[in-house]
Amino acid sequence: MRDGETIEVAANVGSAADAVAAVELGAEGVGLLRTEFLFLDRDEAPSEKEQVAVYDEIAAALEGRPVIVRTLDAGADKPLRFLPQAPEDNPFLGVRGIRLGLAHPELLRTQLRAIATVAGRHPIKVMFPMVATLDEYRRARAMFDADVEVGVMLEVPAMALQADAFAREVDFFSVGTNDLTQYTMAAERGNEALAGLLAGLQAPVLRLIAAAVEAARAHGRWVGVCGELAGEPEAAVVLAGLGVRELSMAAGRIPEVKEALRAVTAADARRAAERALGR
Ligand code: PEP
Ligand code: MG
Repeated sequence: MRDGETIEVAANVGSAADAVAAVELGAEGVGLLRTEFLFLDRDEAPSEKEQVAVYDEIAAALEGRPVIVRTLDAGADKPLRFLPQAPEDNPFLGVRGIRLGLAHPELLRTQLRAIATVAGRHPIKVMFPMVATLDEYRRARAMFDADVEVGVMLEVPAMALQADAFAREVDFFSVGTNDLTQYTMAAERGNEALAGLLAGLQAPVLRLIAAAVEAARAHGRWVGVCGELAGEPEAAVVLAGLGVRELSMAAGRIPEVKEALRAVTAADARRAAERALGR
């Protein structure tokens, strides 16, 4: 920012090609590697070996920049052909994200072994999607055996409301504003009739993020944002003002967001955040 404060600007990637493009567009790392692309539209799960090869290729494309790998976030809008699920009335409130991984531990364990292998040769971090309770986090964490940072996606309001308890145990929070907004506003993501509830800076969502930042600070942890909000220049400034340290977005958004952050001081950003919180 104009006064020298730094915010890490990273990319969301969902393939090796995305990773190459991200570096070209100025990404300082990958804040969200969506691993679903390896699992969707196929008749069986990818082997550990295949996963190691793909994660290796992506990390290599980043040439030493950090990569946060998110474990499989399937279910709801992303059903798995090789793992049919019982029909659900409200799939977004159903067995998805970490819930699916914990219901099929062999799937999660295999992925975590692959990630641990690649973490031995590249700067990798790992995070779990859709965590609502500490028990879920602990069960998933216990399956991972590597000395790297382990975080959680903040997507469920229940986590923000117990951010202090989480901050004692996780290394970082990465806010998935797409889902966090959906669950806070009770408005299905992508439903255009509800755009007014989903778009832009929603004060209640920002307050949940502020709670996570406060808890993280108290325990020496850090907070990133990897939902689409991070890629909107005005919102990026507000998030920086809330104390978010890393913003991860579709690579095409990076130049514009960097420009917006460079135009303000940390104090400007904090004022914008106070206004957006509506306090
Ligand atoms: C989010 O929910 O904001 C997020 C980044 O995860 P996804 O969009 O993959 O659900
Ligand atoms: Mg999500």
